[in-house]
Amino acid sequence: MNEKTSRIPKFYKRTIQERTQVVQEWAKLSHKQINQLANGGLTPEQADKMIENTIGLFNMPFAIATNFRINSKDYLLPMVIEEPSVVAAISNAARLFREGGGFQTSSDEPIMIGQIQILDIPNFNTAIEQINKNKQQLLKEANTVGGSIVKRGGGAIDIELRPFPNTQLGNMLIVHLLYDTRDAMGANAINTAVEYIAPYLEKITGGRVNLRILSNLTDKRKAYAEGVIPAQALANRSMSGEEVVRSIVEAGIFAEVDPYRAATHNKGIMNGIDAVIIATGNDWRAIEAGAHAYAARGGSYTSLTHWWQDEDGNLRGRIELPLAVGIVGGATRVHPLAQLSLQILGVKSARELAEIIAAAGLAQNLAAIRALATDGIQQGHMRMHARQLAVAAGAKDENVLQIAETMIQEGNIRLERAKQLVIQLQGENS
Ligand code: NDP
Repeated sequence: MNEKTSRIPKFYKRTIQERTQVVQEWAKLSHKQINQLANGGLTPEQADKMIENTIGLFNMPFAIATNFRINSKDYLLPMVIEEPSVVAAISNAARLFREGGGFQTSSDEPIMIGQIQILDIPNFNTAIEQINKNKQQLLKEANTVGGSIVKRGGGAIDIELRPFPNTQLGNMLIVHLLYDTRDAMGANAINTAVEYIAPYLEKITGGRVNLRILSNLTDKRKAYAEGVIPAQALANRSMSGEEVVRSIVEAGIFAEVDPYRAATHNKGIMNGIDAVIIATGNDWRAIEAGAHAYAARGGSYTSLTHWWQDEDGNLRGRIELPLAVGIVGGATRVHPLAQLSLQILGVKSARELAEIIAAAGLAQNLAAIRALATDGIQQGHMRMHARQLAVAAGAKDENVLQIAETMIQEGNIRLERAKQLVIQLQGENS
């Protein structure tokens, strides 16, 4: 049983070294890993083996979100993101969910879809019959190139057909190979499998295969997270808990019915999701593609979350989206900080990782719509903006907070004012 608590009050007030020490104890990090955290982890030589034409490295901030409790277990979330406020906001939202007992999550089996496009089929109906008749043989063939995934209980499990009659190319048949990728994202295994069975499909259909590639609309591999926030935990200086619940539900429905709002609503969700995806070395373009395609599945782009008031008057939220993530393979295997992130999370399977990431998306969404439905987001953003202006104006590290606070109190958050304050402080200290 995990007795550790991710509820770490005032974590944000500690120094980088103090925070690192907390995480070191949490995840039993080695000295080598601590050094990797400080210098970005990847060497130019490693980077040169990851992609082509490498000339250097590009660092991003690596942070920890606190307060997450998922299925009665506490987690610290590694997040890699360049945008201010995201980590503070998600930690605060996770604390609110914690007051309602934390997140309950679940996920589908890790089933991916590989697509094979068949054209120039002499007889469409016969081709469909032939594929159905030879299904078991096709699956067997696909699994001969499955490697360790098949040995681990995964591999090709089914075939589905998507006929597109009378396209501008004539009759087009799309074969979906359903493939259990176990703990991998699985792009390589599934692409190998669809390429391998393509000639066999040409033979039995008499057609010509064009594309053979996985689909990023991984709607058979979804993760789900749900949680409740007691209404009284949402009350603030100007609104009762009941009023905040109502405003958040109204904000949720706005995103469900209006694609213009849904795009921004889902962008906020992806702030949380992408940061954990990047920290764990997963492919965020794949996750983004899947999320937005899923949000548009009904023909109109909509919200990935749903918010409602339960019978006790409390706020409930739920998220559902495709999350094809791996804990082996790709950059997860190569990047030392991706390995370190997985160690901080302590995940044992790709499904557990997907469920944590779904919870992160729901928490980030709560943070954004709560701010929007109450004070507006500028109040918090301007605080970070004031700090950035102080830095841009040349403030010394020890003066940044003071200059930012002065500008906030004056209601004058501008670069010119920051420069004046820098000069003023320099004068006082000289
Ligand atoms: P890898 O091929 O690097 O890793 C997966 C492999 O790891 C498996 O095939 C298996 O290989 C091995 N493995 C070891 N342990 C396990 C386990 N417990 N469960 C499952 N497999 C295990 O990466 P992926 O196939 O996951 O592909 C991810 C990469 O593909 C990402 O970098 C992504 O950017 C990229 N990609 C994405 C595309 C897209 O999204 N459209 C398209 C093409 C690539 P073995 O049998 O050899 O042991």
